[in-house]
Amino acid sequence: MLNSLRTQVGIIGAGPAGLVLSHLLYLHGIDSVVVENRSRQYVEERVRAGVLEQGTADLLVEMGVGERMKREGLLHSGIELRFGGRGHRIDFQDLTGGKGITIYAQHEVLKDLNNARAATGGQVYFEVEDVSVHDIDRPRPKVRYRKDGNSHELDCDFIAGCDGFHGICRPSIPSAVLTEYERVYPFGWLGILAEAPPSSHELIYTYHDRGFALLSMRTPRISRLYLQCKPDEDIAQWSDQKIWQELQLRLAADGWKLTEGLVLQKGVTGMRSFVVEPMQYGRLFLAGDSAHIVPPTGAKGLNLAVADVQILARSLKRFYDTGRRDLLDSYSEVCLRRVWKVQRFSWWMTSMLHRFPDENSFDQRRQLAELDYVTGSRAAATTLAENYVGLPME
Ligand SMILES: Cc1cc2nc3c(=O)[nH]c(=O)nc-3n(C[C@H](O)[C@H](O)[C@H](O)COP(=O)(O)OP(=O)(O)OC[C@H]3O[C@@H](n4cnc5c(N)ncnc54)[C@H](O)[C@@H]3O)c2cc1C
Repeated sequence: MLNSLRTQVGIIGAGPAGLVLSHLLYLHGIDSVVVENRSRQYVEERVRAGVLEQGTADLLVEMGVGERMKREGLLHSGIELRFGGRGHRIDFQDLTGGKGITIYAQHEVLKDLNNARAATGGQVYFEVEDVSVHDIDRPRPKVRYRKDGNSHELDCDFIAGCDGFHGICRPSIPSAVLTEYERVYPFGWLGILAEAPPSSHELIYTYHDRGFALLSMRTPRISRLYLQCKPDEDIAQWSDQKIWQELQLRLAADGWKLTEGLVLQKGVTGMRSFVVEPMQYGRLFLAGDSAHIVPPTGAKGLNLAVADVQILARSLKRFYDTGRRDLLDSYSEVCLRRVWKVQRFSWWMTSMLHRFPDENSFDQRRQLAELDYVTGSRAAATTLAENYVGLPME
């Protein structure tokens, strides 16, 4: 038997894009249903990003889901770039007129959003199976899925594809309509989550002969650390001791000590830049990782997903308030302007800070000159700072 359900916006995926969109629509008085193939617990424990741009943090507060973030999140007003064994601070607050970033883990943001959705009667269905979209180029598109052995059909005005890079929405658009732009990097990141108080108050991005390293954190007791590695690095070859040794070597600086601790989680992530154009087809709108991927060096993936759905929510509100489709029609164009600027920044940070297998001594000297310039020129430091804290929304 097929159970039918009616909603204004069907949302596929309960990651940052899907849940922020669903709650923004609720605040605009627009009905939505979210379907997610993982369990709520899985989504709320999946360790991913942790840097919120100023605009993302402000939005969460405006949406009424920022209370815990304000209490538990760590406000940072700069980062350190470390090379040649010396640290150089980029002071965001000074360079951007008072802006900064908030360190608050993605899965904590998702817990807050899920709680807010549950408290306001939001319809978010976890552990659904066989999700598919239909009639996306017709006035009443459909989402079909199975839950607890039953088949369901969601009759919608619009569908938001917030289902990440491996989701089903992007492949549902006829391939002739889409153009993909991609760069795969010849390295990955070996990341650990460790029970160790962060050895620095702010993030440290390190350029080193042995490869890039990043010291980051999630809470005052939990550090998040990364090492540049091969894209297909076998994590089994990396004992905890070997990881700490390598981090000690790459992050070393005069008079500074890296505190070690119990490794709680470790894994290897590949690095790619990817954009699909356009981000809409008929009544299906792609948002977040389903439309684009950035290498994590600029800490932008989550923030870009949130920016997309802010634009989408605004466009849907205009449609339901006035019947005008102008903002919906320009959704892809407006998003892509920001997406490409963020792609450029993420590529630039990645290119400046990593060792490339095919590089020569000229490339290395050029990277060091770039770091010297960025940390020595107020104009150059400002371009890094304004991108890192987040470009303004159009
Ligand atoms: C392993 C990993 C580590 C990362 N680490 C960092 C980091 O350290 N720093 C950083 O800045 N960024 C990081 N990112 C990027 C950042 O987390 C993403 O950009 C962000 O999650 C994008 O949000 P989203 O909502 O677009 O997609 P997602 O968070 O991927 O959410 C998509 C959701 O859709 C669901 N879904 C997928 N297919 C279906 C389907 N067929 N039906 C129903 N639901 C479906 C998924 O289960 C998921 O919950 C990382 C990403 C990954 C994958």
